Amino acid sequence: MQVLLYPNKLLLQEAQEIGEVDEAVRQLGREMLDTMYAHHGVGLAGPQVGVLKRIVVVNLSGEKDSGEEFVLVNPVIVKRSDELVTRSEGCLSFPGINGPVSRWSRIWVSSLNLDGEEVQIEATGLLSIAFQHEIDHLNGILFVSKLPPASKTVIKSDLNRLKEKALSR
Ligand SMILES: [Zn+2]
Repeated sequence: MQVLLYPNKLLLQEAQEIGEVDEAVRQLGREMLDTMYAHHGVGLAGPQVGVLKRIVVVNLSGEKDSGEEFVLVNPVIVKRSDELVTRSEGCLSFPGINGPVSRWSRIWVSSLNLDGEEVQIEATGLLSIAFQHEIDHLNGILFVSKLPPASKTVIKSDLNRLKEKALSR
C-alpha cells in the first residue's frame, strides 16, 4: 500500500466505522502492518493509506516480529488521565517533519480486535501517545495542527516543500 503524504485531502476526512470484522478487514490490517514496517513507522491509520475506515495499527518497535503489535478496529478513548505529557512526534504522512505535541499520559481505549471481540487497553507512555496520534487520524486531525505556534513557524517551510512536491508529481 502507498502512504499518502500531506497535503493529500483524504488525510483531513473523517473515517467511517467498520460494521463487521470480516476477512477483508483482517487482510486490510495485515497490509497496513506490512506498509508500516516497510516505512519503519510505529503507527498507521486507515486514511493514511487512502482507506477511510476506522482502523489503526501500532507497534512501538517499528519492526516485524518484534515488540507488541496492535490492530484496533473502531477504537474509542473511553477514559483518560488529566495529566499531559509533551513529546516530539513525527508522522509517515509528513516525512522529515517533527515537533512537540501535548497528549494525555494515560488512556483507556475500547476497540474491536481482528477476531471481532471487544477489547479494552490501558496505555501509558509512548503507547498512549501513539494511540492518540492514530485515533486523531480517524477524525482527520493531523499532529501539525497541535503544535505550539513557535513550532508551526519552524515547520512552515517544510510543509511548503511537501506541497510543492505534491504539485510537481
Ligand atoms: Zn500520523
